[in-house]
Amino acid sequence: MPTLASRGEPLASAREQLGTLHRLPLATGFETELEGAKLWPLRPTRLEILQLNVGKLCNQTCRHCHVDAGPDRREVMSRETMELCLSALERADIPTVDITGGAPELNPNFRWLVEQCRARDRHVIDRCNLTVLETGAHRDLPEFLADNRVELVCSLPHYRKLGTDRQRGSGVYDKSISALRRLNALGYGDGKSGLRLVLVTNPVGALLPQCQASLEAEWKRELERQHGVQFDALYGLTNMPISRFLEWLRDSGNLEEYMARLAAAFNPAAAAGVMCRNTLSVGWDGTLFDCDFNQMLELPVAEATSRHIRNFDPERLRERDIVVDRHCFGCTAGAGSSCGGSLA
Ligand code: SF4
Ligand code: SF4
Repeated sequence: MPTLASRGEPLASAREQLGTLHRLPLATGFETELEGAKLWPLRPTRLEILQLNVGKLCNQTCRHCHVDAGPDRREVMSRETMELCLSALERADIPTVDITGGAPELNPNFRWLVEQCRARDRHVIDRCNLTVLETGAHRDLPEFLADNRVELVCSLPHYRKLGTDRQRGSGVYDKSISALRRLNALGYGDGKSGLRLVLVTNPVGALLPQCQASLEAEWKRELERQHGVQFDALYGLTNMPISRFLEWLRDSGNLEEYMARLAAAFNPAAAAGVMCRNTLSVGWDGTLFDCDFNQMLELPVAEATSRHIRNFDPERLRERDIVVDRHCFGCTAGAGSSCGGSLA
């Protein structure tokens, strides 16, 4: 499937996406729900994670992608912007760097960035789609990642082939299993080596994720039984009504019902733990956002003087109000959803 951008689809525009969400007749507003939960305005807690979106380039074009990533995207973070991120890391005591994309490994400076973060003794997370580890130039990445003690958070829609290939494309499942086997051979996911391997699943369709704990037990059993594959934890993410998933919701006639379902399932306990409170997201061009979803909707941080990583000012950012909109119902529905899985 080509990206929205390459098809000239109106939903490639963030403004059109927000307009589409705003035209829906929702019974409640996100701000209203936050007020009821005594969380309005939403404020940051301690900044623990600097999430770097190093580009929209990806070797896949998954149906649900909230980034509209794909092989035809050319937006990638430059070495200069990465250097600004490293300076920000040094100025603030942020323990974790979470590298995402697209497929972050396709950024030509990915390995350099990982090494620089590790040299500063930061915990590094790579959000990996698994199949990139099976492509020619990147076959040695598992060894590089293990040598640098990088935590891997790997997306896999389902432990069965059909569900995965339906969402990500034919052949993706077999390549993903092959990559997982190679990671296991290096000690990833064995629970002893310290090489943490997390799998991330999201529902195929307009559904909320099932209970994460019971899903994890089922996935561990099935991947071990079918393929001898092990992993440490499973995160269940809600599909966000953004970009290609928004397009799918619209075209399949599921949009209004899905948004109503998310809003009706607002959970104050999940809202208290949303990832924008302890994470700052950096776009490929250095713009700062409250989260990766706001990034895709081009909603930068409200703190105007610190909107680019070159002006990073942790004190001012700590005082900001987080920018929220209707898509935020995706983070607070049911057990909640964040880059670290369910919240409540
Ligand atoms: S969901 Fe992930 S792997 Fe799929 S196209 Fe988007 S960035 Fe690439
Ligand atoms: S979408 Fe972003 S800003 Fe909104 S609640 Fe989720 S993490 Fe926070």
